[in-house]
Amino acid sequence: MEFATFADRAAAIEAEAADLEIVDHVTALLADATDDLEIVARFVQGRVVPAWESTTLDIGPNTCYEAIARAAGTNVDADDVEDRLADLGEIGDVAASYEFGGQQGLGAFTGGGGAGANGAGGDLTVREVHETLTDLAAAEGDGSQDRKVDLLFGLFNRCSSEEARYLARLVLSEMRIGVGEGSVRDAIAAAFDVPVDRVERALQVSNDYGEVARTARDEGVSGLDAMDLAIGRPVQAMLAQAGTVTDALEDWGEAAVEWKYDGARIQLHHDPGGEETGSMDSAVETRVFSRNMEEVTDALPEVVEFAADHLDRPVILDGEVVAVDDGGSPLPFQEVLKRFRRKHDVAKAREEVSVRPVFFDCLHTGGDDMLDKPLTTRHERLERVLADDPDQDPEAVPGLSLLWRTDDPDAIESIDADALEAGHEGIMLKNPDSTYSPGRRGKNWRKRKPDVETLDCVVTGAEWGEGRRATFLGTFELSVWNGDDLETIGKVATGITDEKLDELTALLEPHIAAEDGQDVDLEPAIVFEVGYEEIQSSPTYSSSYALRFPRFLGVRHDKDPEDAETIDRLERLRE
Ligand code: ATP
Repeated sequence: MEFATFADRAAAIEAEAADLEIVDHVTALLADATDDLEIVARFVQGRVVPAWESTTLDIGPNTCYEAIARAAGTNVDADDVEDRLADLGEIGDVAASYEFGGQQGLGAFTGGGGAGANGAGGDLTVREVHETLTDLAAAEGDGSQDRKVDLLFGLFNRCSSEEARYLARLVLSEMRIGVGEGSVRDAIAAAFDVPVDRVERALQVSNDYGEVARTARDEGVSGLDAMDLAIGRPVQAMLAQAGTVTDALEDWGEAAVEWKYDGARIQLHHDPGGEETGSMDSAVETRVFSRNMEEVTDALPEVVEFAADHLDRPVILDGEVVAVDDGGSPLPFQEVLKRFRRKHDVAKAREEVSVRPVFFDCLHTGGDDMLDKPLTTRHERLERVLADDPDQDPEAVPGLSLLWRTDDPDAIESIDADALEAGHEGIMLKNPDSTYSPGRRGKNWRKRKPDVETLDCVVTGAEWGEGRRATFLGTFELSVWNGDDLETIGKVATGITDEKLDELTALLEPHIAAEDGQDVDLEPAIVFEVGYEEIQSSPTYSSSYALRFPRFLGVRHDKDPEDAETIDRLERLRE
């Protein structure tokens, strides 16, 4: 396809506001793309390489301005391009404001064509643009900057003003003609008469609109269905929404609960001995990708070593890399960032902050894609993949994020408390039956909403525990002020470790005012800070309100009981 045709079509798409019409235009474009289908399917989204490839064109704006200026004529320099950009606001309009093609010199060597007079254009193809941009991406080392400008100049020199508009935008990754990923997906389905959901699945496993379009056209549905995950080609990460325990249990009955690690997302691709990829090159045996599918292998040698030590089969695993101190305890997220994209002096950086991987999902193992399997099945496979021996206690399995399946809110609270106690961020709630949806931020993964507000409540009662906990006070009654009176709003019982209970008992015991069996009344003396999911109306407590999922966050030693919350504030929080 001629680049001029592509530019014409892009202009027509850009002029269209309605989504359906945009899809129609893209459908026609793909149908007409013949041999250049893969390239056109990417270009129309402003991509030169597939979404999963780490390759970047690495063309700074100045390189592009210089190339435009040179192609535009002897009277133009990069400053002039920048001035026009300040006026026009957009590089496509700037490029289109010049006339190209009069320049001699390197343009003549790069396939030449400069029409010799103003208003070049017409013979440049999308394939040539693609090949030149690919060469440009590969340019490295001394003189590579000049070479990039030369190559780009060669392209602009052969462009009409309209072609230049879209070339400039493509080069600077600013295509912005209103074509989203969904439009290309729908257009592939329409152009080659295949169901949208099958196109969607193929896109999820491959992240390559070009390959999917070609497969849909040449091999139809069966070709699309045969597309699988490939080791070395990253998949988009499944994402989470904020959510509450209440909603999760209401929606799913049971929830899969995991610790939420405060690190950076990683996807590990490992193929020992090149079993699946056929590559015997140990350098490609293990590759690590970020949440945005950029390769970060070199920055994280600990993950590569982990794979060599613990993984004996081809896998794709999803997880988190966390920074740890000398004792293995987690360090804040900022410490992970110091390591994550570090390209130089990695060994030195590693001495300062070391990282370790924790995996929570298995996308591919033993030649099987696992995306369509339920979460709990994927997790069982993950455990098997990571375990040193099949009977290993899950807690001892290296790099395994544990998963608890439960319908008991109290159990969830204590998992949350353990996670916080161990220095992690809290918990993730996942639908145990859900499949893995790459790139989706659906309802199947929920990060527990952080407490927007916390409440400082007076402890007005407690209960002596039972059995092992008989000497501890627990199940603390919480109250707030209504004028001069304290009214109850709930009880907090879960999520407190034995050590903490011991400490709280010592703190509260001197304030016992009356005892009746296990029940204890306390004089108002101690203030607890509690988190909660919701304040509900409730006949159970004297305040007429109840806290949903209250959790103990700490003792407010700095507050007197008089400083605790009032009913008025609770009512304002409910509004
Ligand atoms: P985004 O959702 O856009 O990634 P974010 O980076 O702020 O936003 P959150 O939304 O707070 O992250 O939480 C989701 C992230 O939590 C995941 O992308 C992952 O990196 C991390 N995470 C930690 N532990 C888990 C776990 N057990 N399961 C899934 N994700 C986890």
